Amino acid sequence: MTTAQEHGGDVRLTGISKTYGSFTAVHPLDLTVPQGSFFALLGASGCGKTTTLRMIAGLEEPSSGTVHLGDQDVTALPPYKRPVNTVFQSYALFPHLDIFENVAFGLRRRGIKSVKKQVGEMLDLVQLGEQARKKPHQLSGGQQQRVAVARALINHPKVLLLDEPLGALDLKLRRQMQLELKRIQTEVGITFVHVTHDQEEAMTMADTVAVMNGGRVEQLGAPADLYENPRTTFVANFLGTSNFIEAEVAARSGDALILKAGDCKLTLPTARCTGPTATGGRLLAGVRPEKISLTHADDAGQIPEGRNRITGRIADSSFIGVSTQYVIDSPACDSFEVYAQNIERDARLTPGAEVVLHWNPAHTFGLDAAQDVE
Ligand code: ATP
Repeated sequence: MTTAQEHGGDVRLTGISKTYGSFTAVHPLDLTVPQGSFFALLGASGCGKTTTLRMIAGLEEPSSGTVHLGDQDVTALPPYKRPVNTVFQSYALFPHLDIFENVAFGLRRRGIKSVKKQVGEMLDLVQLGEQARKKPHQLSGGQQQRVAVARALINHPKVLLLDEPLGALDLKLRRQMQLELKRIQTEVGITFVHVTHDQEEAMTMADTVAVMNGGRVEQLGAPADLYENPRTTFVANFLGTSNFIEAEVAARSGDALILKAGDCKLTLPTARCTGPTATGGRLLAGVRPEKISLTHADDAGQIPEGRNRITGRIADSSFIGVSTQYVIDSPACDSFEVYAQNIERDARLTPGAEVVLHWNPAHTFGLDAAQDVE
């Protein structure tokens, strides 16, 4: 049985920031990474995610704020005195040492003589027990990255920091390694903080994702929650494709808002609105492309009551395997994207056709129209 203290407790950043001259890479940030969680810092290049990770590692000195590991304030500790370890995109393995000795390195440096059992267990954990006597160049990229993870874990850090560790791998291998890292994290049970610009990667692996933009955390949450309830257009667009309709709150009806968008009337659950809810408030009503059904205008009478509807005309369509992607021109929205899945093929749904887009109002989310649209 391990205790919370053995595992290090939560990683707590309080008012942490980083400036370089007059440029602010990370604005003062409060963030708690729960102990034992797989946490992802997600954002586009330059948003400050690596700087945040490096401040946890002690590789970058914060301009303000503190870093706590459980009860311990580690802000002033050098990297080697913190119970954390980092895996970088460049595996940084020693080319002249075999895999066993690469993993054993941290133990030998601490003067530990009998390393066989521990290294063996670590190589088994990353499923490289058979490769122990090979040199790094004889392994694939994914295998080398697993050696780097084993080498980082051998000293039993309380937190493992991963800086774009899969960035150099091709897509297929990256997907395999995402599952592999998730399995390893579950098995060892320590906190993993993972930096990536790949939304699919963050969503696949992490329990909690912090979406960063311009040196700030724009939204924090479980992957499904971020996808379904984005609070800003940036988050909505970064985690997939969204359609936005400019609308105005016309009335309230029970626990829903009735929106007016041009000639259309839309229903939005009040609980899914982060913008103004008073009558006259300007909103962006969002809906994910895969939530929308498409019906030829001639069959509009068959659409069940109670669904949100928008009329439009097909501008473009492309078959993308599991679904067909349609781009719709609509008076409500310049260009609507719709992924029609599992619908019966309708030969009339070709460019130029008049269509009705319709969806369950529960899939609509409302954002403040006054915020910047990315
Ligand atoms: P990437 O995915 O490209 O690494 P990132 O989100 O991890 O991006 P950071 O590396 O944290 O971004 O950098 C954030 C910002 O701080 C960037 O604009 C970067 O140019 C700037 N920056 C980082 N290190 C320094 C430095 N030593 N001096 C000046 N500016 C820096």
